Amino acid sequence: MVEKALSFWENDPVAMKNQKRLILALDGPGPEESVSLLKKLRNVIGICKVGPALFAAGGETLLRRIGDLGFELFLDLKFHDIPETVHRAILEAARPPVRFLTVHALGGAKMLDRAVDAAREAAANRSGERVRILAVTILTSLSSDDLERVGISKGVDTAVTALAKLACDRGVDGSVCSGREAALVRSACGADFLILTPGIRPAKSPTDDQVRTVTPAEAIQQGADFLIVGRPILAAGDPCRAAREIISAIEAAVPPG
Ligand code: C5P
Repeated sequence: MVEKALSFWENDPVAMKNQKRLILALDGPGPEESVSLLKKLRNVIGICKVGPALFAAGGETLLRRIGDLGFELFLDLKFHDIPETVHRAILEAARPPVRFLTVHALGGAKMLDRAVDAAREAAANRSGERVRILAVTILTSLSSDDLERVGISKGVDTAVTALAKLACDRGVDGSVCSGREAALVRSACGADFLILTPGIRPAKSPTDDQVRTVTPAEAIQQGADFLIVGRPILAAGDPCRAAREIISAIEAAVPPG
C-alpha cells in the first residue's frame, strides 16, 4: 500500500521501504544537535520529522541541510485554521525537500479541500513531486475523558474514524492516529490511504505524555504504514541501536509480499 500512494518510493528495495517505515520525530534537539544526530543515523533512518519548535529554531536552512544529508522530510506543523489561511501556508511550505505536511482534520471539509488544492498547485508551480497531505485525527496524548471535556463525547475510536474518513473523502493522502485505531481507519478508508502512528513505545519504555500507546509490532499488525517515534530513540543511550531495534520489529511484523 505504501508503494501505491508514494510514487517516489516505487523503486526502493523492500529493506529500504521497511527502514523508511520508521520516521524519527526530532523533538528536543536544536538545529546543530539534530544535524549531528542525523549524520550518525543516515544509514539507519530514511525519514525525519521536524515539528514547530525545531522549525522555528532552524527554518528553511535547516530543512535544506536535512535534505542534503539524504533524508526525506516530514514537516509537522499541523495546520488548523480557516481554509484560505491553510491554503496559503501549504503553498509556502510545500517545497523540496518536504515530502509530507500535516493539517488537523478537525479543520473540516473545506479546509481539507483547500489543503489538497494547495499541494497540487505547489507541485504544478514548482514542476515537482506533490507533497503528501496528512490529516491528524485525535492527538495520541488525548484520552476519551480529555475529549469529553472539549465536547467530543462519542469516544476516541468514533472521533478518529470519522475524522480519517472525512480526510480520505476529501482527497487527503493519509492520516495520523494511534496504532490502537489503525485497523478501524484502514477498514474505513481502504488500502491506499496512508496511516501514520505516533505514540509508539517499545515494551518497557516510559509512556511520557502519550496515552494511546502501542509497540512497534502492534502498530504494524494493526495496519500502520509508518511509525513516528521520538523519545524512545532520542532519549536512548545509543539512538542508532534503538532505531535498529524498532526497524527489526517492523521487519518481523510486516506481512510478506
Ligand atoms: O516522543 P514521541 O515518540 O512521543 O513523539 C511523538 C511525535 O508524534 C511527536 O512529534 C508528536 O508531535 C507527534 N504526534 C503525536 N500524536 C499525534 C500526532 C503527532 O504524538 N496524534
